[in-house]
Amino acid sequence: MGIRYEEVTKEAGKLLDEVQIKYFPELKNAKIIMLFDLKKRSSGGRVVLGRIMKTNDLLRHLTKNEAEAVEGYDYIVTLDKQGWNAMGNDDKVRLLRHELRHTYYDIESESNPYKLIDHSITDFYEEVELNKDDPRWRERLATVVGDIYEQQKEERRQEKNKKRKKKG
Ligand SMILES: [Zn+2]
Repeated sequence: MGIRYEEVTKEAGKLLDEVQIKYFPELKNAKIIMLFDLKKRSSGGRVVLGRIMKTNDLLRHLTKNEAEAVEGYDYIVTLDKQGWNAMGNDDKVRLLRHELRHTYYDIESESNPYKLIDHSITDFYEEVELNKDDPRWRERLATVVGDIYEQQKEERRQEKNKKRKKKG
């Protein structure tokens, strides 16, 4: 079994910082770790391009010594690596903004103010305005990335058949 997750590129980290600063000032002090997911994940028959999760106490403890995250990370964002590599810069921003839109800063909570919320619709109301040039961006990207995975599957199948023929 291989390792499923991989560190993201510097470019991805930089883009997250930019999105965080520009659109989510309340997350100024939140520690977010981003990872590439090397395996395809589907939901409702569609490729999942990104996910955001809250860390739990155990994860916070395990990541507490990492640079700049003395108390561990508050959120984990995973990105489909194939998808990320196939996306243009504008779509990358859309995706990161969508994932961060799931965060909710609870001022009332002293122990752990970083929470998660679900979509208001299939996207978030705030995002509808920002994505009005391409309201179906998620379907569009999921289709592109789904096709990439299908193509790779087909290539693997053909490769196997070639090997089989050689043996026979
Ligand atoms: Zn979402």
